[in-house]
Amino acid sequence: MATTPAISEDVLAKYEPVIGLEVHVQLLTASKIFCSCSTRFGDPPNTNVCPVCLGLPGALPVLNRKAVEFAALAALALGCRINEVSIFARKNYFYPDLPKGYQISQYDKPLAEFGFIEIELNGSKKKIGITRLHLEEDAGKSLHEGFADSAHKTAIDLNRTGVPLAEIVSEPDMRSPEEAYEYLTRLKEIILYTGVSDCNMEEGSLRCDANISVRPRGQKEFGTKTEVKNVNSFRFIKQALEYEIERHIGVIEGGGRITQETRLYNAHEGRTYGMRSKEQAHDYRYFPEPDLLPLVVDEKWQASIRASLPELPEARRQRMMKEYGITAGDAHTLTLTRAMADQFESAARTAKNPKRVANLVQSELLGRLKALGLELEQSPISMAGVTASADLVESGAISGKMLKDLYDLCFERKQDFPAVYEAEGRPEQSRDTSALEKLVDELIAANPKQVEQYRAGKKTMIGFFVGQVMKASRGQANPQLVNEVLTKKLER
Ligand code: ADP
Ligand code: MG
Ligand code: ZN
Repeated sequence: MATTPAISEDVLAKYEPVIGLEVHVQLLTASKIFCSCSTRFGDPPNTNVCPVCLGLPGALPVLNRKAVEFAALAALALGCRINEVSIFARKNYFYPDLPKGYQISQYDKPLAEFGFIEIELNGSKKKIGITRLHLEEDAGKSLHEGFADSAHKTAIDLNRTGVPLAEIVSEPDMRSPEEAYEYLTRLKEIILYTGVSDCNMEEGSLRCDANISVRPRGQKEFGTKTEVKNVNSFRFIKQALEYEIERHIGVIEGGGRITQETRLYNAHEGRTYGMRSKEQAHDYRYFPEPDLLPLVVDEKWQASIRASLPELPEARRQRMMKEYGITAGDAHTLTLTRAMADQFESAARTAKNPKRVANLVQSELLGRLKALGLELEQSPISMAGVTASADLVESGAISGKMLKDLYDLCFERKQDFPAVYEAEGRPEQSRDTSALEKLVDELIAANPKQVEQYRAGKKTMIGFFVGQVMKASRGQANPQLVNEVLTKKLER
């Protein structure tokens, strides 16, 4: 994919990559961070704006309490320490989608610091430090397309201006694109579990800037970094980092020097382009925001936020392994989303054998969903349905093969397991043939002509009786059993 001149493995191996990530997540508040405008995505441009988020002279910001609580919750989930006092600051720069000419952010006194995320690669665990988590407002959006008359015009949508963001800055602790990918995966998972953001990358609810440098192995000092901005998938971030690593090494090996700059990744071409140099243009003239008091999140408030912290994915995996006797792999799959874990657990608690539920989810359910491109929420078979089926296999009422067939039918008919099982299987109940035998006796008595024909050798007449039984049982009877009973009675 990358189109840099090939550098030999030997040369690449001489250098160690150093990566630090800056992630912005949009907080799921109903209103913006400093005004009451809606944060809804996809509304007509410039309909969710007011004097505050437009930055009109004299308008005053009022801090959204929910945004603070969401950011603090995320910070706690990431193992950060909350600063009792944090300060909003003006970050001054000119940009068309920033009407005030500055962004309200936090600078030397952020909301939270000193967190970490534990990642696991090839079986070994590693902690990646989180330097800080701070609150800030989003800027607007420049729209460069969608104009019939000209490609040279840009329009500005200020609906996003003032939407609350938490910026999560990592330490330069990652040493490979794989580690960066893993960090982002864990970060997103944790944030999703807290529920403070939907982390939807397509809608820009999660954005990542990746900082990367290389240094000769063994050297203590970091090399000069470049920053790759706004890449819209984790896979592309990994690719962009791979590209940058080779580019850095190529430049250095060629006797050149890396300049500190911001670059853009073109996923189509698989390469990065320089966007703006950072060396001179780096002074935002930060100063404390005079229109906002210092933010105080005291012990009591912190405790109440901490109380709303859900069980986090890693802790949950460990507990589930113990509680249900499932493997690490099972636990991993079953905690991919909080909804899935919740559903699994509510089902597993009532199951005869939770391990079998876990197996069925992985071997029979997820594969079928994936093949159809469906999410768990769209599954025709509910977790309760999976549990019911697991219990039937457990008790020997149905075989593994029957279960597979029934699952196929569930997907075909878009019906949950119990409904399909009622209609198709029910071997336990159907084995009680007394009702069926009574029905067959009645049919034989009521249709002497057809009985005579059958007994005279017209064996296909059994189809007539099968049809009658199925009709009488409204399709509920087990056809195989019906055949058996009919043959027995008719052959007599
Ligand atoms: P800047 O002032 O350029 O924004 P920061 O010190 O704020 O730089 O760091 C921004 C991000 O870059 C952090 O995630 C940090 O870990 C990372 N970073 C800093 N120095 C390096 C480096 N030499 N190589 C790779 N990443 C780095
Ligand atoms: Mg920075
Ligand atoms: Zn507003």
